[in-house]
Amino acid sequence: MELDKMDENDWKYHGEGNKSLVVSNVQHARVLRLLKYSTEDAENSHKTTEQAFRHIQNIVDYSLNVMKPLLGEKFVHDGEAVKLPLDFVRQLSLKVQQERPESRCDKVMDTFSGCALCLPNLTQLSCCCSREHRPPLCIEIKPKCGFLPSSRHVTKEIKSKVCRFCMHQHFKLANGKWKRLSRYCPLDLFSGNKQRMCLAIKHLIEEPQNNFKIFKGGECIYSCKDDADVLQDLDELAQHLRPYFLPSGSLINGHQSSKVVLNELIQVIVSALLSSWEPRKAQLSEGRVRCEASLLHRDLLRNSPGNHCLPKDCVLDKILGTQMLDSLDIEGLNPLFKRVEQHLQDFPKERSSLQIDGPYSQSFLEKVQNCPTEDDGSVEYAVGKVHQYRVAMTAKDCSIMITIATCGEDDGLDQSLEIQPTKPRFTYSVSILDLDPKPYESIPHQSRLDSKIVSHYLRSPLPNN
Ligand code: ATP
Ligand code: ZN
Ligand code: MG
Ligand code: MG
Repeated sequence: MELDKMDENDWKYHGEGNKSLVVSNVQHARVLRLLKYSTEDAENSHKTTEQAFRHIQNIVDYSLNVMKPLLGEKFVHDGEAVKLPLDFVRQLSLKVQQERPESRCDKVMDTFSGCALCLPNLTQLSCCCSREHRPPLCIEIKPKCGFLPSSRHVTKEIKSKVCRFCMHQHFKLANGKWKRLSRYCPLDLFSGNKQRMCLAIKHLIEEPQNNFKIFKGGECIYSCKDDADVLQDLDELAQHLRPYFLPSGSLINGHQSSKVVLNELIQVIVSALLSSWEPRKAQLSEGRVRCEASLLHRDLLRNSPGNHCLPKDCVLDKILGTQMLDSLDIEGLNPLFKRVEQHLQDFPKERSSLQIDGPYSQSFLEKVQNCPTEDDGSVEYAVGKVHQYRVAMTAKDCSIMITIATCGEDDGLDQSLEIQPTKPRFTYSVSILDLDPKPYESIPHQSRLDSKIVSHYLRSPLPNN
């Protein structure tokens, strides 16, 4: 990529989240991730180029030096902060505007700084399988928090019974953010129990919200519709997937075939999520692992083991382990945040040595990893816990990308081989993205949000769907 010869025609709209807008290159497996800011937030729009570049470099450092060692080398890809010609960025912004979903247009793309984050495009495979004629599939899952808090600081009993995602659903429904409840429960996905995991993914497919997307050849073919009234078209999705999961001459047709195809997809996703070099099971047994809001809880849960039994070092195990760095819950963390705030008021110069806003270096990771388990009343303990909490927040907000390519020369699969799970027909690679540091300043907001969500849930008439 030659930064001085950028042409907006080589790039197209790829997607966006709350913080950034992503464009992909039409020829190379690369994306540019540009920051967004809210139209009311004039302060951010006046960031100088140097400030914006520093901000993006911070994201790069955090991902490389903090999240990558915690989540595992093989899952995290390095990004690069780049400075782009302003003319290119302005043209690009005009070009992508009409592609953007209306619900995201409360924010605008940063066209002032010219800074962006350049990353490999994880919805495409850059290497080997280029001779493959079938475009790769990529499944994106934003799994959210996979455990119930077991901290003694938790004051509301409901928090140790119903998971945050399930409670938050009711809050979002009441506030008009979504029109239907998602039946997905993260505790099912992280359970390691294949039946529960399959159901979790089925629920993601039925109501993707912003937790589930499918890409084919780098194009998004399935995600939540902007018009929340429209139900997802599963038959249309199955049409896309059929060539991957059913042999060309298969006699299974219509609704039955959609079911078979989606089932196969779910199986492949579960295998990818559980794949690991290390067959040993990880036992993260602390904390309850069942959510009472999950539909499964009555029948299936009774028979499944009480402990997490994820294979050690599979992507879910790595993410869950990092999420669990939030060991005190926001209720236990908030007083420590206040301790840090008080200290910074008394000794403002210590802000940098305590690495409150970075730099996200090796020594930041050491503060996260070497934080004492018992509170000795020190500011170091409080800072360590605050850092741990922020790292856990990143892990609760990241996305898993599972890129699947068909392998082998089987154009028309032998009909007699229909769906043979023993013979793998796919190769997949698993990555984690969206690993930005969460701002220190947002902790009081998190604390208020937590009590709002919990009290809303306790007030709502029938929490069980
Ligand atoms: P959130 O609101 O979840 O915090 P965000 O604003 O931080 O989102 P990202 O999640 O990083 O932004 O990116 C938005 C979307 O762009 C992702 O959900 C994903 O679909 C796509 N995307 C981001 N990075 C890549 C990548 N490296 N390769 C392919 N697609 C990507
Ligand atoms: Zn739940
Ligand atoms: Mg995201
Ligand atoms: Mg993000």
